[in-house]
Amino acid sequence: MISLKNIVKKYDDKEVLKNLSVDFPDGKTTVILGPSGSGKSTLLRSLDLLVRPESGTLSFSDLTLDYAEPLTKKKSFEVRKKTSMVFQNWNLFPNLTVLQNITTAPETVLKASKKETEDHARKLLSQVGLTEYADRYPSQLSGGQQQRISICRALAMNPEYVLLDEPTSALDPELETQVLLILEELSKLKQSMIIVTHNMQFARSVADKIVFVENGDILFDGTPDDFFNHPTTRIKDFLSGIT
Ligand code: ADP
Ligand code: MG
Repeated sequence: MISLKNIVKKYDDKEVLKNLSVDFPDGKTTVILGPSGSGKSTLLRSLDLLVRPESGTLSFSDLTLDYAEPLTKKKSFEVRKKTSMVFQNWNLFPNLTVLQNITTAPETVLKASKKETEDHARKLLSQVGLTEYADRYPSQLSGGQQQRISICRALAMNPEYVLLDEPTSALDPELETQVLLILEELSKLKQSMIIVTHNMQFARSVADKIVFVENGDILFDGTPDDFFNHPTTRIKDFLSGIT
């Protein structure tokens, strides 16, 4: 489990995470929902230290980090190894082939052998139905295919948790479906995931747990059944698009 406790993040004088605490269970899919600007990305990025809150703690089963304390390189490495982020715009390296995009980080960061990383990459490519694209370049692939590659790239690091920040919001609906199906597969395989999305139908079908963020605070933390079937007035408005 990942446990965040009493997280405060400020930009200048503005608190964008207001002393929030939340847990992300192992082997489950947690979906983070909330209006634009509510702090979802800031929350997700705090988990892999792309964002550094002013205070609060981040705990894994075997490791705790106090954000207020100076961060050593070693600790930062240990924390970052636990998660892998999939971005909205996939951010593949344009000058590397699909296979190289997937193997680069495990080779350089984890010092894994070329054979090992390539075997793993090919296995991942077959899982997402893109085996025959190994030697192509990202520009030769559709957005949906590129996002499937970026999911492979995240999984190639063997993270405990995969973090996804609006993974399909830059895709056309028909390309979105391919990506969502893969995430549903991963969810069934009990890959721990934390997903920010605006796709309510997907959230409903994939989530084991829902976290609703507004104004840097957590307004709901519970089951999809409670969220969708017994919503508070505020959540009802959000779900009906009043936001
Ligand atoms: P969400 O992902 O829910 O849309 P964000 O976490 O991106 O929200 O942003 C939360 C708030 O923090 C917003 O008001 C946003 O403008 C502000 N913010 C985010 N990143 C920065 C930044 N690097 N500098 C200043 N303000 C930021
Ligand atoms: Mg965001």
